[in-house]
Amino acid sequence: MSPNIIFIMSDDHAAAAISAYDGRINQTPHLDRLAKEGVRFDNCFCTNSICTPSRAVILTGLYSHLNGVKTLADKIDGTQPNVAKMLQAAGYQTAIVGKWHLGHGGVHDPTGFDYWNVLPNQGEYFDPPMIEMGEKKVFPGYATDIITDEALRWLSGRDRSRPFYLMVHHKAPHRPWEPDEKHAHLYDDTTIPEPETFNDDYRNRAAAAAAARMRIDRDLKPQDLKQPVPEGLDPQQEKSWKYQRYIKDYLRCVASIDDNVGRLLDYVDQEGLRDNTVVIYTSDQGFFLGDHGWFDKRFMYEESLRMPFLVRYPSEVAPGTVVDAMALNVDFAPTFLDFAGAAIPSTMQGSSLRPLMQGKTPDSWQTSMYYRYWMHMDRVHGVYAHYGVRTLRYKLIYYYAQALGTSGSTDDPKPPEWELFDLEKDPFEMRNVFDDPSYAEVVVELQRELQRLKDKVQDPE
Ligand code: CA
Repeated sequence: MSPNIIFIMSDDHAAAAISAYDGRINQTPHLDRLAKEGVRFDNCFCTNSICTPSRAVILTGLYSHLNGVKTLADKIDGTQPNVAKMLQAAGYQTAIVGKWHLGHGGVHDPTGFDYWNVLPNQGEYFDPPMIEMGEKKVFPGYATDIITDEALRWLSGRDRSRPFYLMVHHKAPHRPWEPDEKHAHLYDDTTIPEPETFNDDYRNRAAAAAAARMRIDRDLKPQDLKQPVPEGLDPQQEKSWKYQRYIKDYLRCVASIDDNVGRLLDYVDQEGLRDNTVVIYTSDQGFFLGDHGWFDKRFMYEESLRMPFLVRYPSEVAPGTVVDAMALNVDFAPTFLDFAGAAIPSTMQGSSLRPLMQGKTPDSWQTSMYYRYWMHMDRVHGVYAHYGVRTLRYKLIYYYAQALGTSGSTDDPKPPEWELFDLEKDPFEMRNVFDDPSYAEVVVELQRELQRLKDKVQDPE
């Protein structure tokens, strides 16, 4: 029988908050099990670092401009092909539980799923209402537990004669980072280290970095901090205090995810499904955990571009495998189809990651990727629209900085600007070398590569 696939995706979980990747700020023993017993991808990137678009890319195997979900304000058209429909046609039972965030009602509801039970819009952390096959109900408890409970409930009632495809989508650790009672006091007696670039002053960068409104010291709201700022702190102390408030609640939400991933893995193991089940953990994008003085995502910078991607599949994947090759969220759907033994439509824009997991990365595998953030200056975060190319060593970003009619954008064009980072010499992207004459040839090469990728993914100017 074709393998079962369990795809667990959280919302805004940066790789730096998984100890299999980093371990400086927290421990995630259950997520680490996936890396230890399977494969860890170290260079998995999203093509548009924001919730709704990344989800649409994963479902359709198409870039944002072709699946119609370019910004947070766009809804999916569920009449288009998606990977769940294709797996259904290949004989799979399909289900999605948890965050959907691609619109509701009519063509915006989940399609391709035999069973769906999803949070409306962003969803609530406590006593979340959910829409189960079109019917709204309230589920008492904590969202991360409930989403796992409901996934397990569906699993125990499934048809055991057929393989299954189950998407488990957590709301956590998305803003406003509300932990449950069980983890509320985790880290009470510790100080979480501040990241290297915590006091970035945004010099030597395009104007976009300084213009963004997602700074720890200035842009966190009372509902994010949940406590009044103590009096008598100097500005640096206040920034550090806010960071601790933010990061501890974030990590407490992550701890609950980790526990619940453990519950799902235990179920798989106890049911004897271990060898024939592909278990994946990822997040819809990365996140700034105080890096560059920020929270949130959107930028093509490393912390928000990089997705955690861990896969356990004992039948095929050797324990402790690490893949350095570049993987993209647009590659996920082809990967699922490959595991299912189903045809990958030529219209899909990604490639299966299955050979990489087996240690057989093809010689022709991608060494560069195209990125585009469409939502110009949304009212809250103010990030400029940009696109760019990342290669193994460099990153070239072009802030075209215009709305171009996209939803949720502000029609307030800014002067276009370029950024070039040498990731080997400057891994934290603190020094834009676009105008440095010694990089003139690199610029020409990367601009050519950017154009090649634009043509390839069919995103015209
Ligand atoms: Ca997200």
